[in-house]
Order: sequence, then C-alpha cells, then structure tokens
Amino acid sequence: MLKTALQIQISNNCTTNSVQTLPKNLLFIEQFEQKVKQTIKRFSMFKPDDKILVAVSGGKDSTAVLYTLKKFGYKFEAVTVDAHIGCYTEQNLKNIRKHCQNLGIILHEIPFRKVFGASLCFIKDTLSQKGFNLKSCTVCGVLRRYILNKKAREIGATKLVTGHNLDDESQAFFMNLMKNKLDLCARSGPVNGMSKHKNLVQRVKPLYLTREEDIVKYSKMMQFPVYYGKCPCSVEGFRNSIKDGLNNVEEKFPKAKENIINYFLNIRDKLQKNYALNKAPDECIHCGEPCSSEICRACKILVDFKIMAEAPEILA
Ligand code: SF4
Ligand SMILES: [Zn+2]
Repeated sequence: MLKTALQIQISNNCTTNSVQTLPKNLLFIEQFEQKVKQTIKRFSMFKPDDKILVAVSGGKDSTAVLYTLKKFGYKFEAVTVDAHIGCYTEQNLKNIRKHCQNLGIILHEIPFRKVFGASLCFIKDTLSQKGFNLKSCTVCGVLRRYILNKKAREIGATKLVTGHNLDDESQAFFMNLMKNKLDLCARSGPVNGMSKHKNLVQRVKPLYLTREEDIVKYSKMMQFPVYYGKCPCSVEGFRNSIKDGLNNVEEKFPKAKENIINYFLNIRDKLQKNYALNKAPDECIHCGEPCSSEICRACKILVDFKIMAEAPEILA
C-alpha cells in the first residue's frame, strides 16, 4: 500500500529527524509530488486512453517516477533492461523487483544477454578490439533505447516514461549545443518523439522540471529501495565536465539549470520548425526501427561492427 507523506514522516522521525523538522519534510514531499503532477499536466503527457510503459533502472529517478505515477492513479507496467554490469545491476534489479512488488506493478525484465547474446562489457570490449572506441554509456544508451522502443511496441504501449530529470536535461541541452547538434536539441524535451513514425513510441519525462538533489532527498525520505552509488562503467567525460560546470555555476547563480531549461522551452518551437519537422525519420534497413539515417545506431554497433550477424530480435 502507498504510504502517505505523513506516515513516511512519522516513521523517519523515529530514527533520525527531530519533531521540529516534521512539518518542513512533510511540505517538501507534498511539493515534490505536486511538481511532478503539474509537469505531467503542463506538457499534456498522458491521454486517458494511453497505455503506459515505464522504463526503470532501479535508481532514484525511476523509482520515484513509479511511486508518484502509482499515487496519482495511473495504470501502467514497467520494464527494465539488464546490461549485466556486475554487482551494480544485480543490486538494482533486486531493488526494482522489490519496489514493483510493493507497488503491485508488472515488471518486464530484458537482459542484454538474451537479446544480444552478450553483456555490455563484452560488446564494448569487442568494439574496442575492432578499433571502435565507443564509451560504455554510448553503447549502453543506444542499445537500451533500441530495446525499450521495441518492447513498448510489443506490448502496445503508446507512451514510454523515462526518469530524466532537470539536471540530465540541462546537461543534454548544453552538450548538444556545444557539439552544434541543434537537431538533437529540437528532438529533445519533456515529450520526445515528436517525429511521427508508426514504430516510434512517444517518450515522456515526468521529472523534467525536478532537480536531482530533490529526487535524492525525496527517495531517501520515502525510504525507497535504491542503491545511491555510481555505475562502475560511468566514464562519460564530456557529460561529467558539463555536469561539474553547471553545478559550479549554480553555486553563484542559483536556478541556472531551471533558467537553461526555460530558455530551451522558449526556443523549442522554433528549433523544431527549423531542424526536425523538415525531416521525417527513416527506417533502418536492417531492423526497421525508426532512425535518421540508413542504418540505426544500434545496428551500426551490432551488425556493422560484426558483434552480431543479423539485427537482434527481442525474445519474449
Ligand atoms: S552509467 Fe552508463 S554504462 Fe552505466 S548504466 Fe548508465 S548509461 Fe549504462
Ligand atoms: Zn537497425
């Protein structure tokens, strides 16, 4: 059963919090949940007849999304992709199973080994041996998105929910800006997948306006089963530089990340007109997934780089 904010506060209070902090924490939980609710409403993320699938990793973001959506009364299923990153993903998997069980949510588990016949590390190492020095996060992100979109279609989902937060999104905006990838900026936002393609399930981000530090605080207050350590494969040099830079800027200019996102939202329509609406997505010649070139990035990794002979199929 879902706990109310007051119940959480009372149980927290027994261990660490003083009586004085109780109203403040209660207010924080309520404000957090209201913000998520308002974000969903502001960007019209769901229609009444949507079939919703939530992508979960077991981390703080996706567990918070699961809980809040459940609390708001949405009906949905969850999916997690296991990239087999040792104890890290084993722990996350345990946590997410527990969380879904507590909330009564159906969880689909899709292991890399079942789909691609190999773990993330094996794929990454094989690529390196062949002279393709892609970062783990790049390979992981591309293959995960590929699996999630296919799975969403397979179960007839019309919306795929992800746990991206304000920090992720302000970093992504800056990264695309610095690489002069305005077309990618145009395609991002709280509701992705604006390019209409029959095979592309629209992605939505209920935590789009929520700060990472608030999600950590909420997750700890709510006592969600979450491992707060870092993924051992996380060596995203460029993103980390941007992340550190934005955090430093915020020490002097509070709300800089909110301002970046607000600026992006103000120019998004123009960007979409200029960069993305002109080009309908094509289909990958190997797997038929939507993509902006002849071959999608997943097939580029798996087929072109000879990790697999053919495009993979998701196994039931
Ligand atoms: S940090 Fe990178 S490698 Fe690790 S799970 Fe996330 S995307 Fe994958
Ligand atoms: Zn493909």
